[in-house]
Amino acid sequence: MDSGSIRRTFLEFFKKKGHTIVPSAPLVLKNDPTLLFTNSGMVQFKDYFLGNATPKASRIADTQKCLRVSGKHNDLEEVGIDTYHHTMFEMLGNWSFGDYFKKEAIAWAWELLTEEYKLPKDRLYVSVFAGDKDDNLPFDQEAYDLWKQFVAEDRIIQGNKKDNFWEMADLGPCGPCSEIHVDLRSDEERATTPGRDLVNNDHPQVIEIWNNVFMEFERYWNPEKGGASELFKFDLEYHGEDKKAKREKLRSSLTLLRYLPAKNVDTGMGFERLCRAINLVQSNYDTDVFTPLINFAAQTSNIPYGKDEKTDIAMRVIADHVRAVSFAISDGQLPSNAGAGYVIRRILRRAVRYGFTFLNFKEPFIYKLVPILSGPLKDVFPELESQKEYVSKVIFEEEASFLRTLEKGLKRFELIQNEAKNGVINGDLAFELYDTFGFPFDLTSLIARERGLSVDEQAFNAAMAKQKSRSKTDAAKETGDWVIVGSDVKPQFIGYDQQEAEVKIIKYRKIKQKNKELFQLVFDKTPFYAESGGQVGDTGYIQNINEKITIVDTKKENELIIHFTEELPEKLESSFEAKIDQQKRSLTEDNHSATHLLHAALRSVLGKHVEQKGSLVNDKVLRFDFSHFAAMTTEEIQKVEYIVNQKVRENIPLDEKRNVPIEQAKALGAMALFGEKYGDFVRVITFDPKYSVELCGGTHVKSTGQIGMFKIVSESSVAAGVRRIEAITAEAAEQYFRSELAVLEEVRALLKNPKDLLASTKSLLEEKHALEKKLEVFQQEQANQIKDQLAAKAVKSNGYHLIIERVTVPNADALKNIAYGLRNQFDDLLMILAADVESKPQVAVMIGEKLMESKKYHAGNMVKELAKEIEGGGGGQPFFATAGGKNINGLAAVLDKARKLI
Ligand code: ATP
Ligand code: MG
Repeated sequence: MDSGSIRRTFLEFFKKKGHTIVPSAPLVLKNDPTLLFTNSGMVQFKDYFLGNATPKASRIADTQKCLRVSGKHNDLEEVGIDTYHHTMFEMLGNWSFGDYFKKEAIAWAWELLTEEYKLPKDRLYVSVFAGDKDDNLPFDQEAYDLWKQFVAEDRIIQGNKKDNFWEMADLGPCGPCSEIHVDLRSDEERATTPGRDLVNNDHPQVIEIWNNVFMEFERYWNPEKGGASELFKFDLEYHGEDKKAKREKLRSSLTLLRYLPAKNVDTGMGFERLCRAINLVQSNYDTDVFTPLINFAAQTSNIPYGKDEKTDIAMRVIADHVRAVSFAISDGQLPSNAGAGYVIRRILRRAVRYGFTFLNFKEPFIYKLVPILSGPLKDVFPELESQKEYVSKVIFEEEASFLRTLEKGLKRFELIQNEAKNGVINGDLAFELYDTFGFPFDLTSLIARERGLSVDEQAFNAAMAKQKSRSKTDAAKETGDWVIVGSDVKPQFIGYDQQEAEVKIIKYRKIKQKNKELFQLVFDKTPFYAESGGQVGDTGYIQNINEKITIVDTKKENELIIHFTEELPEKLESSFEAKIDQQKRSLTEDNHSATHLLHAALRSVLGKHVEQKGSLVNDKVLRFDFSHFAAMTTEEIQKVEYIVNQKVRENIPLDEKRNVPIEQAKALGAMALFGEKYGDFVRVITFDPKYSVELCGGTHVKSTGQIGMFKIVSESSVAAGVRRIEAITAEAAEQYFRSELAVLEEVRALLKNPKDLLASTKSLLEEKHALEKKLEVFQQEQANQIKDQLAAKAVKSNGYHLIIERVTVPNADALKNIAYGLRNQFDDLLMILAADVESKPQVAVMIGEKLMESKKYHAGNMVKELAKEIEGGGGGQPFFATAGGKNINGLAAVLDKARKLI
């Protein structure tokens, strides 16, 4: 069965069982401070599990793009070396939100695998949770009994907490899980060792394909124990090898479990592993998900796949990584220097390195795989196919620049190699190669080995560990448990219509980062806009007769709106008057609406390939990143400014529509951004239906006239294929023009208010230029005169012409010209000049050509010695050297010393 049919079969199967099929969420996450990337199917449904949002259906199924390269799930180092862990993979999943539970989930999983996909039953094993005494977790008898209906008992394995208990975080929903494993070994091998002994043992042919999580518990802090603070203290202070196990024990002792009122099912099946199992092949890379990519790498490198483990690994790494990088870029995450972007850069660099080292790819190569990847997936992930040119351009630029870095690193390696002691390269230097040039340890030691050297691995690891612990301590953060204050209502955002409101606190928690303590409050309803879509969060205050508390920021955590304060209100149950900083909000709205006008103007001036790639909007400035491959010309920038300002003057009223079905919004011409997650109903912001229609959750001006004025202040490049415009509006723009005009006024006054400022400035510059020319000629003549005077003073003795004199010259060039002039005149010259150059002391030594042959004098050494008298230093060639100094009074001493030296 081909991979397309396998995916389709899964979705159709669950559709028949009453599930709503939803698209994959983007790979890159916004508004989730706990994760950089989607790493499992449940991520997009987190709010449902946490009770922050209502599920759109109680049964859902999908295939989700996942990336496991950081945090809890980090499979990066294994990828390519093993044959069943990927960086980016698809996770097929079915969900029940308070609907069906273990009975249906288990029966359907078995039906799908054995009847639809026809996996041989004698290759399947299942596992259930054995329970955990230390953590007070019970054995999952229910799942065991349900599996017994389908599977012989010797195929049911009782697994431990690590493999068979699922939790989202330290706290929150959790529960036992049941995995399904498949044994893909040959009949002979299976006859010798039973598969059950190999389950969960990292055997490359006995692998987990599906995990069914039964969320039935909720973990919470035991009110009688130290809670979050104690765990935070441990995280910061304990650094032993056994940290993980110790932490786990501590957490257990600090928390309690209770049954959830509504139970959920969350399942995840690795799509690539499933394809392999159904086709009974030895590796995920032998399925049609990967073979087109592997084949292309094999053809291009002229090395067959399957010939040598090293080159095979390199091809697998490339085939895997191009998927991760391409999907991330098409979801809006460009490679960069920090955060999620840095992770993507590192993945791509790992692929480039493998290609460079083992497949001899010295030119960019990976970008060529993008269309091979995107074509077959165009119906499932259209975002990749429609952006394939952009994605491959970005990858090309990244590859080219990293290949240059690699070359530089190799040069650095030459130097480092010279410092090797007893054939061992210093571990700190190897770490420098890693940190600055992206050379991982294996590459450095490979190159070292080729040259008969080795690398101090221990010291390298120590340097690495030091860096890691530094960044861990920086990132440590204590998040307290939510404390419920009021009734548990679903919080509402009312800030589109109201700037103030009477609110009640429904819950709060304490957080601590870098020893700063803050509180996060959630209100029943709020006028505060939470940072998202590029627009910053509102600030303001809440108050009543007793107290006034400042809101320093507002952010989103998934769907939850969180208000940050530095202190906690004393009377939490009271009502408060909540009020946003209106001035800041209003200036921010000017910039946000201007961003929409700018986006439309860019598309009309530069073309329809312009797409938003990022934006930041606050009360001072707007920053807009967009796809475009060349720097904008001055004319283009002016045109864009002109259009936007024209739209401002037209004073177009805002047309805001909430809860528009997404399909209808698209029909209106609204462009959905890649990498953005939209619900079924969206908000549409229109400024003239023929000009700007956008899907947007931000706040805007009532009509464009409010923006007042728009001015682009810079246009630059942020990454390959992405440009950035920074612009200002309203008062900031007015202020900008005012200060520019003030400068102009000052210049005009300095030039004595000429009629034509430009013409007078030009003529002033021309005059200056002419004078400079004259001065140059004059100085040249002066230098010639000095040279002639010196030549006249030359003393012929002992086989050389000796000149030891003090001179005053206009500049260093003149001194040099004089010295060379004299050298041309006397081939047996020995010249030492102590010069006053614009009141600074200099020494110059020049030795004639013929005198050089005697090898008696060395200008460089002589200058070094003489310069001591003027407290300076310098050098040069054996025949000519100069030195500058600090002490002009030392010039006489220079001459004395020179006479003694000769
Ligand atoms: P493993 O122990 O094999 O790493 P896991 O326990 O990390 O798997 P889960 O987190 O339960 O896996 O994810 C559900 C399913 O997703 C797994 O059963 C597997 O089929 C698939 N999966 C997990 N990690 C990867 C990966 N890195 N590459 C490909 N598929 C994966
Ligand atoms: Mg894993």
